[in-house]
Amino acid sequence: MLNGLPFRMLANYTGDLRSQRRRLFLKPFHSRSAARFQLKRRQHPYELRLVEKPSTFVWNFPPAQVGFTARMTPVIIKQLSKQFDGTPVLNRVDLQIEAGEIFFLLGPSGCGKTTLLRSIAGFCAPDAGEIYFGNEEVTRIPPHQRNTGMMFQSYALWPHMTVLENVAFGLKERKIAKAEIGNRAREALAAVRMEALSERKINELSGGQQQRVALARALVIRPRCLLLDEPLSNLDAKLRLEMRSEIRRVCKESGLTAIYVTHDQKEALSIADRVAVMDRGCIRQTGTPLEIYRRPQSKFVADFIGETNFVDGIITALADGKARVSTGIGDFYGMIGDSRMKSGDPVTLSIRPESWKLQPGAAGENSIRGHLEETVYLGEMAQYQVVCGSHSLKFFEINPRSLATEGAREIHATVAVEDVTVLPRES
Ligand code: ATP
Repeated sequence: MLNGLPFRMLANYTGDLRSQRRRLFLKPFHSRSAARFQLKRRQHPYELRLVEKPSTFVWNFPPAQVGFTARMTPVIIKQLSKQFDGTPVLNRVDLQIEAGEIFFLLGPSGCGKTTLLRSIAGFCAPDAGEIYFGNEEVTRIPPHQRNTGMMFQSYALWPHMTVLENVAFGLKERKIAKAEIGNRAREALAAVRMEALSERKINELSGGQQQRVALARALVIRPRCLLLDEPLSNLDAKLRLEMRSEIRRVCKESGLTAIYVTHDQKEALSIADRVAVMDRGCIRQTGTPLEIYRRPQSKFVADFIGETNFVDGIITALADGKARVSTGIGDFYGMIGDSRMKSGDPVTLSIRPESWKLQPGAAGENSIRGHLEETVYLGEMAQYQVVCGSHSLKFFEINPRSLATEGAREIHATVAVEDVTVLPRES
């Protein structure tokens, strides 16, 4: 009820960013006709005006309410399980994806990412558990009634249709009024910056342009959430980089909740608000890209995301979230993520190759002396393989001005406490 009037807000919300105006569709109770309202962004709170009826209705509400009741839908997954031929593929997966969040599912091949995404879309029926879009349970609802937008690695566009016709296709299927179809298709093409090519045939487009059309086609139905399955894997390296930022821009400007499956860690770290790392049907860790990269909670996550050096040791002291660890290559202070750790626990240190600082004469805690075994120069960085006791450690030197000479040269290096992560030892 708005100001005592019998209006109910639908999850139908568009952002017209060029004019900085947003339109909302409100549906009166007991009526099939949707009344159109216009939302003007002036100051907080927002002001809502009825624009398609002669009378003017004004309602003020806080902006957070606009986002939530409009297109942004949280996706909640509770205890989702799935087996194929008796083999568990999803094992009691719990996830809460916030409204408007770009959420990545990352993990090795076969860990169940696509099965989870297909379950959210409705193409795979879980054996147990529940899926919610906002407050609505959708676990048993067929895919076409869930109103999700899908984007795959194969663009699956109709080659005989123009760009505009491809984008409009989903709206025709949904029996949207003809007058609205053109407007909405053009709006979606504008969002992906393809309006100038709307009359082109699909085979007259580059791979990147085709992927933009695929994104517009997913957006045009105003989905409750956008599901992306390796959408960039068919593009060359340069286009992938360009499309990474495009996908993030479009999702954020449209206020979409997006769930994205990829193998590509760089893609995940550069686009995601949050990432879930999966392993054999389970979620091993969920966090922001920075948390996942800098504070992995297990050897599995540290190893899967980026490169790292593992050094086993025993905790000898603990204080203020830091531990002193005795290892075969010296004593190190590092950060602990698990408050249950105690003195005497066997642990594994994770030290990223770029954390080491070459420093002649370095000695004492958090420093090593080793012999340089191999140098690889890559322009923006040099990679060194350094033998230290029984360990072979990898160092990255960013923007090297000169190279450490190969051979039996002694290397001294240090690492900051904040760059050493103390992980529980895994057998
Ligand atoms: P990738 O990154 O290689 O695409 P993924 O993490 O997306 O892998 P899924 O596609 O979800 O993994 O598959 C998980 C496991 O379930 C795999 O072992 C796969 O072979 C199996 N699987 C998936 N779909 C089916 C199916 N329809 N019937 C039988 N097994 C299946």
